[in-house]
Amino acid sequence: MMAPSLCKLLGKIVLFLWLLQPVLADRDTVSQFSTIDALLAGVYQGVASFESVLKEGDFGLGTVEDLDGELIILEGVAYQVRDDGSVHRLGAQTQTPFAMVTPFVSEGERRLSSLTKNELERELDRIFEGQYIYAFRLDGTFNLKLRSVPKQVRPFRPLSEVVKEQSVFEFQKVEGTVVAFRCPSFLKGVSVPGYHLHFLSTDRQSGGHVLDIDLVSAKLEWDRCDAFLLKIPSLEQFHTVNLEPDRSDELDRVER
Ligand SMILES: [Zn+2]
Repeated sequence: MMAPSLCKLLGKIVLFLWLLQPVLADRDTVSQFSTIDALLAGVYQGVASFESVLKEGDFGLGTVEDLDGELIILEGVAYQVRDDGSVHRLGAQTQTPFAMVTPFVSEGERRLSSLTKNELERELDRIFEGQYIYAFRLDGTFNLKLRSVPKQVRPFRPLSEVVKEQSVFEFQKVEGTVVAFRCPSFLKGVSVPGYHLHFLSTDRQSGGHVLDIDLVSAKLEWDRCDAFLLKIPSLEQFHTVNLEPDRSDELDRVER
């Protein structure tokens, strides 16, 4: 026989865990603001503030209003890498035209060393099973080719035009964190199918969208996500842009 007070306590614990349920469920949700095809088409106007983006997760990537550089969200802080290579912390009221975030909860880790970009992707393909979305981070030392994009003014041109003016930065044996996602192919048009990597150095002095990577040595941690929440912007430009065409080739030119 359990003491009545113990029964009461257990009852309270069960109630507490039940109340916690919705919070726990959100942990494996990737939230995305706008779509990759809208960004490719030149919808660079802000659709959400970083205050609202960070409510959906502490880990993510994307870009900043007016396509003002690359975005890295790491441990709850949003960083911008401008096309001059400088890194800035973003304020709560700054807006994003495209971002994807999740509350990062590590579900597994692995030590990796001496891998080219292709070898790294093949290794990750072996670890990441099924057609889930995987958020993952790599903390370690890398040789990198990074890029950032220049801030745009209206009328906005398509992203494939803008990236012709992108800045490219190369680093040897730089320490930092790769913030990345692997998306299944069925998210084509909405998100970036396959691998999408951004980087931020440990000293927070450099970063960008990863064009090429040589992993020297790193710790991999991943978070398997089984839910995707798309926030459709209320922006007029989003609702009038043509989202019919297949922009896969454009995406390849822009992201890789
Ligand atoms: Zn990117």
